[in-house]
Amino acid sequence: MLIVAKAGGTVVKNGLPEIAKDSKEIVDGGSNLIFVHGGGAEVTIIAEKLGKKQSLVISPEGFRSRYTDMETVEILNMVMSGKINKRVVSAFQSQGARSVGLSGVDGCLLKAKKKEKMIVVDERGRKRVLGAGFSGKICQVNSELVKLLVESGYVPVISPVAIGEEFELLNVDGDRAAANIAGALKADGLIFLTDVNGVILDGKLVREIKVSEIQKVLPKIGAGMSTKVHAALEALNMGVKEAIIASGLCKSPILSALQHENGTVIVHG
Ligand code: ADP
Ligand code: MG
Repeated sequence: MLIVAKAGGTVVKNGLPEIAKDSKEIVDGGSNLIFVHGGGAEVTIIAEKLGKKQSLVISPEGFRSRYTDMETVEILNMVMSGKINKRVVSAFQSQGARSVGLSGVDGCLLKAKKKEKMIVVDERGRKRVLGAGFSGKICQVNSELVKLLVESGYVPVISPVAIGEEFELLNVDGDRAAANIAGALKADGLIFLTDVNGVILDGKLVREIKVSEIQKVLPKIGAGMSTKVHAALEALNMGVKEAIIASGLCKSPILSALQHENGTVIVHG
């Protein structure tokens, strides 16, 4: 079995020991795991300590993203592929899970196409067009490199920084990166580990959403979560069996999500 798990910043900060224990168990049981991390909040803190003000923008569809100019992508890469990535690798190693940290730039693991423009909604609800800066959309995954590592018993730990057509570094969304990796490798499962128990609709946790129901529920889902639902859909369309959006802050977060005891399962149908 091949599992791709992605954890957001809060989970990377507070949930790594349990995730690392699950990872060791998964690999010992003969399955393969690929881990993708986010960490945007930490990028913002460090960028601002360096005197580089950050701005988050919202698209008309409700996606939240960072406005990434050249200095920002450099700081983002330092924090994501350096500080956060190595902290995750060391947490995995401490539980005996052998792991290798990579960015999407290494071995052209994530190739992306630079976005040309970004449509954003300003504070007054008006649409504005900005140059997209250094952010991209993933167009290719080096699955061979990832396979090489998982087949040797390593857990690749991947930061969401991609390489562009002109070999420039590009900011890519972590949820989308995980979905593309899972899709390219036809993973059995894709798990988004986040800071809530799953998709909440009308105040209640939803246990299952079918692909055919997604368009109906999306208008009720806010920024952050809607990116995951879209990414889940994208992965399922690429042949992934199921996607689970689950808490990364509980005991055994990955194993309990795989057993459908934690989170919202997004399934074909
Ligand atoms: P991550 O760092 O894991 O990517 P995000 O903050 O980007 O986390 O996304 C998760 C957040 O999405 C939740 O903390 C919650 O505030 C928000 N959210 C918006 N709409 C919903 C919803 N319908 N159900 C659950 N969470 C939602
Ligand atoms: Mg997020």
